Amino acid sequence: AISIKDCSLTFGQVRVLNQVSLDIQRGEFLSILGPSGCGKSTLLRLILGLLSPDQGGGIVHHVPREEIGIVFQKPVLMPWQTAIQNIELPLSIGPQRAKQSKAERREKAEWSLELVGLTDFRNHFPQQLSGGMQQRIAIARALAADPSVLLMDEPFGALDEFTREKLNIELLRLWANPDTGLNTVVMVTHSIQESVLMSDRIVMMSPRPAKVQDIVNVPLSHPREADMQELPEFLS
Ligand code: ATP
Ligand code: MG
Repeated sequence: AISIKDCSLTFGQVRVLNQVSLDIQRGEFLSILGPSGCGKSTLLRLILGLLSPDQGGGIVHHVPREEIGIVFQKPVLMPWQTAIQNIELPLSIGPQRAKQSKAERREKAEWSLELVGLTDFRNHFPQQLSGGMQQRIAIARALAADPSVLLMDEPFGALDEFTREKLNIELLRLWANPDTGLNTVVMVTHSIQESVLMSDRIVMMSPRPAKVQDIVNVPLSHPREADMQELPEFLS
């Protein structure tokens, strides 16, 4: 879906990424692990085009940019807009706007709010929500836009174990379900357990200057759609 080739990135004198190459395959669930400060968030910003690689490196997107969704490490919400307005905002600008009517956008926003369990908070403003709730709004906003590739930077870090588990399952469901647009997920996480549970491949970034190394290829051991019927009711 996205190919990163020999990308280096220098902030001032500091080389944060050192000739990183990584192929993100269409259809895979990829986890990125690595110590704090090694450049994981920087790598995601590079993929999004918010940063440019130093000379010599390049990124080829095999998917249209508007199909790439992002959940940043810190939720960036519009403070003067309610939860549901924050989710609807990206749906009502740019190329997304033409795709859906106002009613369809609202329906999509309601769907994603329910997915993250915040239907009752639709009219709350960000400052009236906890950090974890704000993060769930950011996740809902990304999902409502129907991305085919979803980049997530520590998306569940601020959440309690139960909510985290539930959203892990919901995300896997969306990814595994061929009827949704989502087919590729790249998730930065600090949890080895989560990466093993969720992904079919893990890449490990070494400390600065980082070079992405494909150290583990985790076999498909996570529940596919068929097995999901068996999940305990409280997780559904
Ligand atoms: P964490 O797990 O703590 O989120 P990370 O792997 O995401 O860490 P990055 O946020 O990508 O790490 O930062 C990598 C390095 O780049 C850090 O040393 C940081 O100080 C540096 N860095 C990041 N952004 C900038 C910037 N805008 N200007 C200068 N240095 C930066
Ligand atoms: Mg980071």
